[in-house]
Amino acid sequence: MLDASPVALLLLNNAGEIIYQNKHAEKLLLYSKEEVLGKELSFLFPKKFWGNYGSFFEKQLAQADWGLEGENKVFFAKKKNGNMFPVELGINSIQDQNENYMLLALHDVSDSKNASALFELVFESAPNAIILVEGTGKIVMVNKQAESLFAYQRKELLGKPMEILVPDRFKKHHPDLRREYHHKPATRPMGAGRDLFALRKDGAEFPIEIGLNYIARDSEQYVLASIIDISERKKTEQLFKDYTRKIEHKNQELEQFTYMASHDLREPLNSIIALLSLVTEDDSNQLSESVRYQFNLIEKSAYRMLELITGLVDYALLGNNEERKEVDLNMTMEHVLNDLNSAINKSKAEITIEELPSVKVYDIEMRLLFQNLISNAIKYRRPGVSPQIKISSQKNGAYYLFSVSDNGIGIAQEQQDKIFLLFQRLHQRKDIDGIGIGLAHCKKIVELHDGRLWIESEQGVGSTFYFSLPIEVE
Ligand code: ADP
Repeated sequence: MLDASPVALLLLNNAGEIIYQNKHAEKLLLYSKEEVLGKELSFLFPKKFWGNYGSFFEKQLAQADWGLEGENKVFFAKKKNGNMFPVELGINSIQDQNENYMLLALHDVSDSKNASALFELVFESAPNAIILVEGTGKIVMVNKQAESLFAYQRKELLGKPMEILVPDRFKKHHPDLRREYHHKPATRPMGAGRDLFALRKDGAEFPIEIGLNYIARDSEQYVLASIIDISERKKTEQLFKDYTRKIEHKNQELEQFTYMASHDLREPLNSIIALLSLVTEDDSNQLSESVRYQFNLIEKSAYRMLELITGLVDYALLGNNEERKEVDLNMTMEHVLNDLNSAINKSKAEITIEELPSVKVYDIEMRLLFQNLISNAIKYRRPGVSPQIKISSQKNGAYYLFSVSDNGIGIAQEQQDKIFLLFQRLHQRKDIDGIGIGLAHCKKIVELHDGRLWIESEQGVGSTFYFSLPIEVE
């Protein structure tokens, strides 16, 4: 008899497993009896489409609540061929002495006759709270999300002026704003530039974002408002603002500290150097060779300290007080090669430069970047091998990707992260001169331009420094 029924039927046992499907269900879902027997309901009704009714099946299946029995609900079902379609479910419980069963009658509502059922499904399973308001401001429809967002039951909202959802301090103006909207209706976000708040039933206010849609039907006008609670986003924004303020403050402090430190540290150093030369240049002092040698060491150290302080201050001030401007990097390169002329000649370096783009950058910093990379490529050459240096660029998505490669001594993998840190060197000064600040400068410069700097290198073969710069800059 059941097989002859024109309605698709499924029977579930206590454990929520399908224990029977009739012929019509087989035709509708395209599964054979054997394929569905013992399967859970989610096999035919994927959980991700349970939407609002998420807990509904679970409650039903837990046998705890058969309250919705007999009510018709629309769900998405999945056929064997993967097609999804809306199904109106009639649910009935059947009890015998020891067991409860659930009988599901499935009506395919994918045809247009059942468009209203489909509309309800869409309206109810929308991720946002949705409220439909008449021209007079009366609420005529709300979905489940609106109920839970405002903590009202549906019946408490329907027919009420929508101002019950508006905090007192905005209530007075709200009808005017509503009328204004009806004069100039459009699909748009509400309250552009203003912070919007809503009122929950318990009197609590919360920040919201609203999208408005104007609907005219026959002689009636409606506004469909879709509402999102943005409390979490606002909290995060506030945290972000506080954090930014703190960082700005810390930055200012650091900048002041840098100025002070550079002045206060340089002064005594300059005095030491001046005093030293007074002593060493005065012949009447008759200094012994060894004392003269030690004075010379002190002087060298003092000069080196000056160099470090200058490097540190330069580092702190990179990108300050300057505007970005469109710069032809081919010109930048010309300047850099000019400045490095003597080092290039001395080392017999061969430098190949491909056509470079024009980019909106901090001009001086960009020069410093190329200068540091190229002078390092010359400085860290292999003994007896003249440097071959290649500079190129290419477009890579939203970025230009630049590379400066050399055939120098290279850097072992495990050392590669270290070299971008301030004052980190892999060499003794007696071998190769330097203070270990060049690459830290480079990193800061690239990051100042919202790019990234990294290295690929093989010891004894050579290194390639890559950096990216965004093509579009506001
Ligand atoms: P400095 O050259 O003053 O030591 P940098 O910050 O420019 O400071 O470089 C840090 C370290 O990275 C250098 O001491 C060197 O060991 C290594 N390095 C930098 N560029 C290269 C290169 N092109 N080839 C090999 N090693 C390099």
